[in-house]
Amino acid sequence: MTPGRPSERSAPEPDPTADQATKDAMSNATTVSPAHSASTASTLITNIAALVTNDPSLGDNSPLGLIQDAAVVIEGDRIAWTGDQSKAPATDNRVDAGGRAVLPGFVDSHSHLVFAGDRTQEFNARMSGRPYSAGGIRTTVAATRAATDEELEANVTRYLAEALRQGTTTFETKSGYGLTTHDESRALRVAARHTDEVTYLGAHIVAPEFAEDPAAYVALVTGEMLDACAPHARWIDVFCEKGAFDGDQARAILTAGKARGLHPRIHANQLSYGPGVRLAVELDAASADHCTHLTEEDVDALANSRTVATLLPGAEFSTRAEWPDARRLLDAGATVALSTDCNPGSSFTSSVPFCIALAVRDMGMTPDEAVWSATAGGAAALRRTDIGRVTPGAYADLTLLDAPSHVHLAYRPGVPLVTGVWRRGQRVV
Ligand SMILES: [Zn+2]
Repeated sequence: MTPGRPSERSAPEPDPTADQATKDAMSNATTVSPAHSASTASTLITNIAALVTNDPSLGDNSPLGLIQDAAVVIEGDRIAWTGDQSKAPATDNRVDAGGRAVLPGFVDSHSHLVFAGDRTQEFNARMSGRPYSAGGIRTTVAATRAATDEELEANVTRYLAEALRQGTTTFETKSGYGLTTHDESRALRVAARHTDEVTYLGAHIVAPEFAEDPAAYVALVTGEMLDACAPHARWIDVFCEKGAFDGDQARAILTAGKARGLHPRIHANQLSYGPGVRLAVELDAASADHCTHLTEEDVDALANSRTVATLLPGAEFSTRAEWPDARRLLDAGATVALSTDCNPGSSFTSSVPFCIALAVRDMGMTPDEAVWSATAGGAAALRRTDIGRVTPGAYADLTLLDAPSHVHLAYRPGVPLVTGVWRRGQRVV
């Protein structure tokens, strides 16, 4: 078979380092089986009650491309065949899904996993009535700078394993808790050992040392720090917000990153209205993330662009903030992704199923839309077509639920329904 080619990036070769890291993560976890060895043998997964393909031309013609009584064939690290189980081709191996649901592995397109320390006290205080401000990031910056490389590595490994057990097969992660040239490039090197989707976020907040001279910090982020970080990242991000970086600073930072071959994504319109979303569209950012406070102009801009609106309900949950209005974005025609924003300050969850449940309960999404946004939507936010779908040529990244339908992800919130995960064709959970 011919592997599918993503539209915006060449299909990555299997990364032995990343796979080894995943195996290490899995072997460190006590509740899962060891990873199976790589194989080019074909495997049939059959007796799938409901299969989410995210290909409307398959199954019921809905955006989810649902197929009842379905089967999937994995060959090497790719999907080789998808369809009605009665028409499945012969294979070397066979797995009985037991009348359960299968969907693409979750694509968590926004996380901050390279950090040290803990902000339990801040969360506890905030739940007692103190509002969240961007300044809490400084606590994690101090802890991260003080951590050894091994401590940062161990943290990423731990949260990656946690996410994998909950069905996440692709994740993006960022720097942003170093804020020095040394610490930002160190964070990116750690992240790059685990994922291809690495984002340089030197512009998370103005580093404490530059509090009196933000312009000098912007010069550092777009100069020496960018030089050190660009080789280790695919993306550049900025927190465009009062108390972080204004629109002009954000434009300068993202434009400098683009000139070095990094592609932009933006923390936009989280805590207040502002220029972030329109800047994201202007610069053809892959994603504008948060999108909690949007004007009509912002919604129109997103709907008429290919910039994805990535919603992060874990942040609103954990800061007891106003929910983003997913319904309004969807009705306008914008592409919506759902992601965890996993970070120790404002959203310390690695659970995409939890975010799906919140999006359905509180953001106006249907269960189908939320599942699409956490799989195909996340892939769109990373400009990938080789993940987030169960179609021939895509990576064989699959999640098996202990439930007959994907709807149970929202219907049974907080229940650990993920009972099997294949990543790049290997069963890892
Ligand atoms: Zn974030």
